[in-house]
Amino acid sequence: MSRRNKLYEGKAKVLFEGPEPGTIIQYFKDDATAFNAQKKGTLQGKGVVNNHISEYIFTALTDIGIPNHFIERLSMREQLVKAVEIIPVEVIVRNIAAGSLSTRLGIEEGTHLPRPLIEFCYKSDELGDPLIAEEHVLTFGWANELELEEMTHYAFRINDFLSGLFAGIGIKLVDFKLEFGRLYEGEECLTILADEISPDGCRLWDMETGEKMDKDRFRRDLGGEMEAYQEVARRLGILPSADITEIADHKNNKGQK
Ligand code: C5P
Repeated sequence: MSRRNKLYEGKAKVLFEGPEPGTIIQYFKDDATAFNAQKKGTLQGKGVVNNHISEYIFTALTDIGIPNHFIERLSMREQLVKAVEIIPVEVIVRNIAAGSLSTRLGIEEGTHLPRPLIEFCYKSDELGDPLIAEEHVLTFGWANELELEEMTHYAFRINDFLSGLFAGIGIKLVDFKLEFGRLYEGEECLTILADEISPDGCRLWDMETGEKMDKDRFRRDLGGEMEAYQEVARRLGILPSADITEIADHKNNKGQK
């Protein structure tokens, strides 16, 4: 990966210039961070699992007509995506109270919400991604009205689809975060889904046991992060967990991640 031109390094991914203009390579790292990077760690094989889970979900979203940046998976840790201008607004959809919603409003974790709730945060590491209202988005021009409308529309559709997908494999989709970008095509500017969808940015609870199968295992020092992520991948029918670990280890040993 070092031969490529690095464009940006984030907490869980590195972006490299793609082979064609308008393309980018997303490289999934094993680094894990929480609480705005105050807590850091490495989860061996996480990048490989998240690359595969995100590929699976974005491909399924393409099939149901949600425009997104995914082109193809290139390797165990890399995927080719369309280059977009990221809209600096994180879109969070919640079905069950947990995390910051529970803390902020004193709603017990696990309370089913009467309807899906959408929240927006301003994407800023410096400020810790503060919660904002639609009015802030428009006032400060982070997105325009049409983009806000499209992000909201897609977010609810994605929620409907993913809730069903996960329910089918015995998992409750508690909440998740989405990021969107602007794709310039000639005169047109399209709003499309970007970033990744993986257990790093979703809360996933086992329907029978209530076990957490997402990054809360890391955030809350519960342990068993990789087993949980691999179980999500296994239930999605992506790769048997052993294969993912073995292949990742094999590649790491050969120094070619
Ligand atoms: O922390 P909070 O409860 O607001 O998170 C809601 C959902 O959004 C969780 O699934 C969390 O993983 C995700 N999230 C994220 N990145 C952030 C903030 C939240 O992936 N910066």
